[in-house]
Amino acid sequence: MTIPSFIEKNKDRFLEELLELLRIPSVSADPKFSKEVQAAAAYVKASLLKAGADQAEICPTPGHPIVYAEKIIDPKLPTVLVYGHYDVQPADPYELWDSPPFEPVIKKTSIHPEGAIFARGAADDKGQFYMHIKALETLVATGTLPCNVKFMIEGEEEIGSDHLNQFVLANKDRLKADVILISDTHMIGMQDPSITVGLRGMAYMEVEVTGANRDLHSGTYGGAVANPINVLCQMIASLKDEQEHITLPGFYDKVQELSPSQRQRLNEAPFDLSEYKAKLDIEEVHGEKGYTTIERVGIRPTLDVNGIWGGYTGEGAKTVLPSKAFAKISMRLVPHQDWQEIAQLFEAHLKSIAPASVKIQVKAHHGGAPAVVSDSSLGYRAAEAAMEETFGKRPLPTREGGSIPIVALFQQELGSDPILFGFGLDTDALHSPNEHYGVKNYFMGIETIIAFFRHFSQLSST
Ligand SMILES: [Zn+2]
Repeated sequence: MTIPSFIEKNKDRFLEELLELLRIPSVSADPKFSKEVQAAAAYVKASLLKAGADQAEICPTPGHPIVYAEKIIDPKLPTVLVYGHYDVQPADPYELWDSPPFEPVIKKTSIHPEGAIFARGAADDKGQFYMHIKALETLVATGTLPCNVKFMIEGEEEIGSDHLNQFVLANKDRLKADVILISDTHMIGMQDPSITVGLRGMAYMEVEVTGANRDLHSGTYGGAVANPINVLCQMIASLKDEQEHITLPGFYDKVQELSPSQRQRLNEAPFDLSEYKAKLDIEEVHGEKGYTTIERVGIRPTLDVNGIWGGYTGEGAKTVLPSKAFAKISMRLVPHQDWQEIAQLFEAHLKSIAPASVKIQVKAHHGGAPAVVSDSSLGYRAAEAAMEETFGKRPLPTREGGSIPIVALFQQELGSDPILFGFGLDTDALHSPNEHYGVKNYFMGIETIIAFFRHFSQLSST
């Protein structure tokens, strides 16, 4: 059977299997879902075996397990390693979903006239890594698999991939590959295919400011003893100047500056600022002076408060001078900032600006290195050719604001360049209520991955 007729014949099943996986609430952050996380790993393993993998196993880690599988047809042929994650972000707040997050439904939207699958994890990343399993199945069933394939699908991406490092280091030989495919990013649009070549890193911090040893009466003590919430707010406000420049000394020292022509190329990507604002219902964008919106999210680092709390937040009034205030602050980093260095710098600066009237504690939660991927490697060229074939247009290289810390890990430890082969759209509401993934994107992705295999094996043999 030919590839197109195999896909056509199995279309409904390819979709139904993904919906089945989406019904498993594999929320890695919440221990209440740990059984479901296990169930998702088991489902992935079974799917890989069914697709034709020679072997698949669930590899335990001190956290959630990693599913590893492989199909080796000839050790002399090139090997493709696929990375993905079967865990998902928490679905809260549930009331903002139009349909329950773990009961997938297919609905048409203006961007997805053929329909989109609405469910937590539809685009990030179940719908995207599952395309690779269906591509493998198609290649095996039609006798056209031209390379060896390995899969590493983890369950902790949404909580910082804490145990992946250890796994990669312990399994370097087993994971050896000529190229790594990761479908966990988005393209500019269905008419404008693109491949991500840059990702921001991250340093995630938590700050605790303590004033007096207990909550105080704001009448008896107010004005005479430091209010840690006020102090924390002042400190945070001072971390940016009026140009929206981050004021941490040394913060920009290692930031890679792009040449005027690189910046111009980046800004050639289709982008409509008024549409962007309209979609977010904002009057004006906000960010670092001297940079466009595309640049602000692609090539510039950020500092954002993700949460802040302390004192009385219940109903009515309580006149309290709280003892403690907290904030979670994340910094998105760009090449060549080092997250551990930035975390130290942040800690030192906050300690230096804290007034003597409070005590301060700063801790780093997790971080990840920023990454740039070559746009001239064999893998990139194969991905470019595959996309051009299925989308009818040569993809643009783009930089994405999000972080996939493992990209830098793979480059360092496995020595091969990952290809960020994402097929989602940035309107797919990743990490938000009503996350969805286009049905067309899913099938175009499967076809493009299949085409990648052919191009990659052809390019590798010349
Ligand atoms: Zn993801």
